[in-house]
Amino acid sequence: MASIFTKIIKGEIPSYKIAEDDRFFAFLDINPLGEGHTLVVPKEEIDYIFDLNAEVLADMMVFAQKIAKAIKEVIPCNRIGVSVIGLEVPHAHIHLVPINTLGDINFSKSRPQISKEVFEDLSQKISQKVIL
Ligand code: 5GP
Repeated sequence: MASIFTKIIKGEIPSYKIAEDDRFFAFLDINPLGEGHTLVVPKEEIDYIFDLNAEVLADMMVFAQKIAKAIKEVIPCNRIGVSVIGLEVPHAHIHLVPINTLGDINFSKSRPQISKEVFEDLSQKISQKVIL
């Protein structure tokens, strides 16, 4: 069965899209640690990130770099934190999280409620800044 992220990539499930190319897709995390929290996924459905082909893995990080630069232009923050967890969704992905303190990237913390309007505004503003 296709992963939830494959369904998002195919447009079968809606998402707040940031950018895509032929191999990678970026969209806002639906239950974010904070505004701008973005997921970068390979279109190829592989569960564990370190099972990806080495070239794909390297290129995925370069794609994530471009997304991180766009997020940082929109969200005032010290830097964009990077994390790989993968315990919830079995489709490899990189978390990009705007951070000022270590606590901002604590995956155990309670998540803020973000309205549909704010999600839409963020995805529009960040996607406009992406240069692929
Ligand atoms: P992980 O697998 O890295 O532990 O966590 C998966 C992440 O994917 C979580 O932060 C969760 O909020 C996010 N997520 C799970 N399902 C969806 C979804 O349907 N849409 C979006 N945009 N994010 C999701």
